[in-house]
Amino acid sequence: MSDKFIKINESFKCVYCGIFNERDTHGSCRNHCTECLYSLHVDIYPGDRREKCNGIMKPIQIESIGGKNIIYHKCLVCNKIKKNKSSIDDNLLNFYEAY
Ligand SMILES: [Zn+2]
Ligand SMILES: [Zn+2]
Repeated sequence: MSDKFIKINESFKCVYCGIFNERDTHGSCRNHCTECLYSLHVDIYPGDRREKCNGIMKPIQIESIGGKNIIYHKCLVCNKIKKNKSSIDDNLLNFYEAY
């Protein structure tokens, strides 16, 4: 078994807007804020928390593929771009209003 499949699904306080995010209860792994969609660069593989960068990841684009929304996050420290599946709780309208 690869440790790439270890997932940490935890509640957290958003570093960007400050709201408290509950753990994801829809079977996936919460890795970004449901309100502002900002994330943190803490995963190499989703949920593993092994990335040392810890930069703030800004949502830069939302792509809809087959009815699922994919959020593109760009790290403001190292400029890495990562794709994340949107959670059912995500307030995507906030993104469309802000950009
Ligand atoms: Zn937030
Ligand atoms: Zn980074």
